Amino acid sequence: MFDAAAVKRDFPILNQPGEPSLVFLDSGASSQKPQVVIDALVNYYSTANSNVHRGVYKLAVAADAAFDGTREQVAMWLNAPSSDEVIFTRGTTEAINLVASSWGRANLQPGDLVVSTLMEHHSSFVPWQMVAEEKGARFEAVRLTASGELDQDHYQELLAQHPKVVAFTHVSNVLGTINPVKEMTAQAHAVGAIVCLDAAQSAPHMAIDVQDLDVDFLALSGHKMLAPMGVGVLYGKRALLEAMPPYQSGGSMIRKVTLEKTTFANLPHKFEAGTPSVGDVVGLGAAISYLQGLGFADIARHEHDLAAAAIGQLNALPGVTVYGPGADVPRAGVVSFAVDGVHPHDVAALLDEKGVAVRAGHHCAQPLMRELGVTATTRASFYVYNTIDDVDRLVEGVRHAQRVFA
Ligand code: PMP
Repeated sequence: MFDAAAVKRDFPILNQPGEPSLVFLDSGASSQKPQVVIDALVNYYSTANSNVHRGVYKLAVAADAAFDGTREQVAMWLNAPSSDEVIFTRGTTEAINLVASSWGRANLQPGDLVVSTLMEHHSSFVPWQMVAEEKGARFEAVRLTASGELDQDHYQELLAQHPKVVAFTHVSNVLGTINPVKEMTAQAHAVGAIVCLDAAQSAPHMAIDVQDLDVDFLALSGHKMLAPMGVGVLYGKRALLEAMPPYQSGGSMIRKVTLEKTTFANLPHKFEAGTPSVGDVVGLGAAISYLQGLGFADIARHEHDLAAAAIGQLNALPGVTVYGPGADVPRAGVVSFAVDGVHPHDVAALLDEKGVAVRAGHHCAQPLMRELGVTATTRASFYVYNTIDDVDRLVEGVRHAQRVFA
């Protein structure tokens, strides 16, 4: 049994006094932080803070060890062959922009095809659309089925046109759909395309093995997985990263600078120009350890159970439409819905009156909103600290919104 009530006690922000107590259902946007992550930050800044990769004094050595140690930890967590293939970024957005800019500019030619999907967050859509436009490449997106899954027939049609790159999300931040990454990646490779995976909504919630998935690039954000804001990861296959030009230039990423020419550092430093967010990286390490302690398989099961309960109870309310796959298939703990006659922002505001924090809007997924035929949805997203009582509070809040607008 996953003891979410015990997990919740580890998160100070969820245990503040006052009525109604806080039910936080917006972890898809950003998660809360457990005491161990807060402590890791305090400890780092109290005992080891210094810039990295340049000092010889004890603090600098301690900061280097903490920073590079976390890189090793991330590589082991993702099962990356080498920590040289782990690049720290500010988050998923920066990681995908790095790939689209660096790999895209170096490899795309006029007439090439870039494949995305209609369920992408803008950060896995717009960077590829922009570089395609810049290079005169075509940009196409896989359509969706009525149940909110990728239309695999359409994907096959696009693959038959030999794209250079397929960029898509592991888990939809609106629908909770889990895409068949391993199969789609193998099919992309079979036609010579590389795969750039957006793992922003998967890495926090399920075990990830980059060698098993065989993706070429994978991007994730620390702040969605209990770590501080300001740190994320790009994993990339060594051969691709080595062949790519730097994304940003400046300090820490050079081998030699002369008036005539600059040469670049080895991986991963070539892609880490400037001072990184060392404390946040340390916090990411603490978050990974905490999540591994809970167990990713159990986390995924727990969130699926919460989503199943929420979908069942919301569907039972007249006038409520739930989007995305049902709970009879593996799906993530993201549940988007509409309440007849109540704008999503009003649903969210009325839920907030009851202490329930949900998100309303287009969720940075306007192409998907267009597919759904709406401008916005209300979204509840679950994480390790959510309990079945939180689902009940959500459903009570929706009924409250219905009564207000009756
Ligand atoms: N991709 C997906 C699927 C997301 O849900 C998000 C965050 N909402 C992002 C990318 C962007 O992440 P960040 O803002 O941390 O860069």
